[in-house]
Amino acid sequence: MTRRAGDSRLSCRPIRGTILSASRVLSALHELLGSRGLLPAEAVEERYRVDVLGQRGEAPLSVMRPADTPQLSAALALCHAAGVPVVTQGGRTGLAQGQLPQAGEIVLSTERMTAIEEIDADAATATVQAGVPLQRLQERVEPDGLMFPLDLGARGSCTLGGNIATNAGGNRVLRYGMTRELVLGLEVVLADGSVLDGCKPLLKNNTGPDLKQLFIGSEGTLGVVTRAVLRLFPLPADRAVALCAVEDFECVKALLRHVRGVLAGELTSFEVMWDSYYRRAVPLLGRPAPIAPGRAFHVLIEASGADPALLAAGVERMLAGAIEQQIVADAVLAKSGAEIAELWRVRDLAIEASRQLDPIVPFDISVPIARMGRFVTEMQAATRAVDARCDVLVFGHLADGNLHVAVHAPPDRPDSFHAIERAVYGLVGRHGGAVSPEHGIGWLKRAYLGHSRSPAEIAVMRQLKAALDPRNILNPGRILR
Ligand code: ZN
Repeated sequence: MTRRAGDSRLSCRPIRGTILSASRVLSALHELLGSRGLLPAEAVEERYRVDVLGQRGEAPLSVMRPADTPQLSAALALCHAAGVPVVTQGGRTGLAQGQLPQAGEIVLSTERMTAIEEIDADAATATVQAGVPLQRLQERVEPDGLMFPLDLGARGSCTLGGNIATNAGGNRVLRYGMTRELVLGLEVVLADGSVLDGCKPLLKNNTGPDLKQLFIGSEGTLGVVTRAVLRLFPLPADRAVALCAVEDFECVKALLRHVRGVLAGELTSFEVMWDSYYRRAVPLLGRPAPIAPGRAFHVLIEASGADPALLAAGVERMLAGAIEQQIVADAVLAKSGAEIAELWRVRDLAIEASRQLDPIVPFDISVPIARMGRFVTEMQAATRAVDARCDVLVFGHLADGNLHVAVHAPPDRPDSFHAIERAVYGLVGRHGGAVSPEHGIGWLKRAYLGHSRSPAEIAVMRQLKAALDPRNILNPGRILR
């Protein structure tokens, strides 16, 4: 992977003619945060440097772990005054390498800011601190008959602050939208330490530009998300999950049309696994596959609704119709909560299945559904043209037009990583797709930002960065070079 050259010694940039020494900044931070709140370089564990795909950043100068917004704000003000760059980390599950420290940076971790401050069942809102793991909020609101609908494989370790900063997508975007749609209010600390308190639990607040939207999806480059008011939804009385084996891509599209027609608003997920993914994932289950591998596609369908009897009847009617019309070659319907979890586990094994092709080039791309079958066939050919050993694994949120792809990069060819990127992104561009529908740009995809954003849009992004972070201390080099 490409890394910025440089050593890990602190080299503070001159601010108004002065240069603060490393030891002065770190001792001021230590005085502010205490020994629980500031880990010196020698105490920084490996987990602050690696991502789930095994990519490794540089050794940071230290790790700041503020306990609350006032501490975080004061710490950032110190870093701002000294010109010391900071990289913010939530659960470190991002796949665009934005969270990996670069030389000379201090890690700002939200791992001590984990309070669920309030659940308002009447308003259906939750007020949370940034470091709360997604799954903890999901489980906390269920006894109140509520759900927080954002869901992704990293739910146990990703944090709500990270989900917001990266505008996470996941498995239920089809019905509930991206994270952006789930945030009502946001508290953000700007680079100079000032606190932008927009934590209002209002669905409607039409009082000028919606500032929180600037920070959602800006990957920590414009401010640090510290607290949020999130939307909750009624917990569906029941869920139904089916796994279908499908012989070709035309049938996958026909199945999507059929499922939408029968289930309408009850459809929450339509996840498609190409056989290249499925046959690698099911052996990891540690039990017999729900459907034996061998078909070209396996589709995981989830529906949820307020009336269990109606839901079950709808899903059974959907499956019977799909089999009768020969859209589906084989299908299983989960009969219990345990079986639902078992079927979802096949899809949740994405990281483990992808890593069987290590080293990989990971992709998160969108392509119009009409072109998707042809796109994948062309991608397989284009990557094999780079190197005959380029194995390709594909799965994704098909109804959102969003695919995740892992391509094996032969390790004895140092040029293969970028050659594979160029081949795949070139095809994405020709098919009218986007280079990052879900995972963000981070460090990994900066060179390809121009494939999805116009020069005028990128110029506005630069103006925003300069206005909100004039000393470029927040996640410098992410998104924009
Ligand atoms: Zn995804």
